Amino acid sequence: MTLTGKGRIAGIIGWPVAHSLSPLLHGYWLDELNIDGAMVPLAAQAHDFARVIAGVRLAGFAGVNVTVPHKQAAFAIAHECDAAARAAGAANLLVFGKDGTIFARNTDAGGLAASLREKCGDLDGGTAVLLGAGGAARGAVLALDELGAGTIRILNRDSARADALAQALASQVRARLASGNLENWPQAATGAALLVNATSAGMTGHAPLAIDLAPLPESAAVCDIVYNPLQTTLLKDAAARGHTTIDGLGMLMHQAVPSFEAFFGVRPAVTPGLRAALVKVLSERA
Ligand code: NDP
Repeated sequence: MTLTGKGRIAGIIGWPVAHSLSPLLHGYWLDELNIDGAMVPLAAQAHDFARVIAGVRLAGFAGVNVTVPHKQAAFAIAHECDAAARAAGAANLLVFGKDGTIFARNTDAGGLAASLREKCGDLDGGTAVLLGAGGAARGAVLALDELGAGTIRILNRDSARADALAQALASQVRARLASGNLENWPQAATGAALLVNATSAGMTGHAPLAIDLAPLPESAAVCDIVYNPLQTTLLKDAAARGHTTIDGLGMLMHQAVPSFEAFFGVRPAVTPGLRAALVKVLSERA
């Protein structure tokens, strides 16, 4: 597709950014919906972030998606933000207003909630165990709360980070938050309806998550937000034990829906065709 004078441009800013699936994802929808537009990768180190944002805003970009390591800087640079970005203290979407304002949004939590809801419905007061206490885990607490978790047990290798996360979000969620370290896993798993891995363990180049799923009830669903590889050791183990599994691609696709709508003015659909296109690229890269 060639851009005419009316075409809209958006970017994905990160460092590194070459691995990002966002250009492919948005490109799929642009083709499917026959929209004259483009999503381009913007490789920017931390010290260049503000200048690149100023440049692309002046160049007429509709906005940018934001990935590692800029999500907190994106929140800080914005003039206005939505509740999800405020709660996370981080933004994965910056929308540029015609008057020069920068509006920060966070669609990660909503993306995870949509992906979980699609596969296993709402939690209706049930207990979720969340592994991790980094940026993604912060959004996952909000997603699990949105799904109606009664209790969220946050476990992290460094338990002080899990405690700090629980403390920081306690007043912003309805769910009861408990925290501990990975040694508390057997007790935390008891009676759980859902396990979410929001650590980077299991990612290509990282050691797999070292937990034994035996204490988890058979009825519990298991989600891994890592999507590279798509079938992590955790998901393979969970599937072998008969648990419903949810991979990280669902979150990735769903978090992009509001971004695309903000950039190009049409709400796209998450379809099996989109998933198949992304799975193909991931398997070619593996
Ligand atoms: P951070 O670096 O902020 O946090 C990493 C977390 O992983 C920390 O809690 C850390 O524990 C934990 N961790 C790292 N290695 C291990 C290990 N071997 N065993 C146990 N815990 C470990 O990363 P993010 O929160 O930004 O991202 C986490 C993952 O989520 C990444 O794989 C990322 O790709 C994925 N992600 C997926 C998205 C999607 O759309 N599907 C969106 C965003 C992220 P400690 O504090 O003790 O160091």
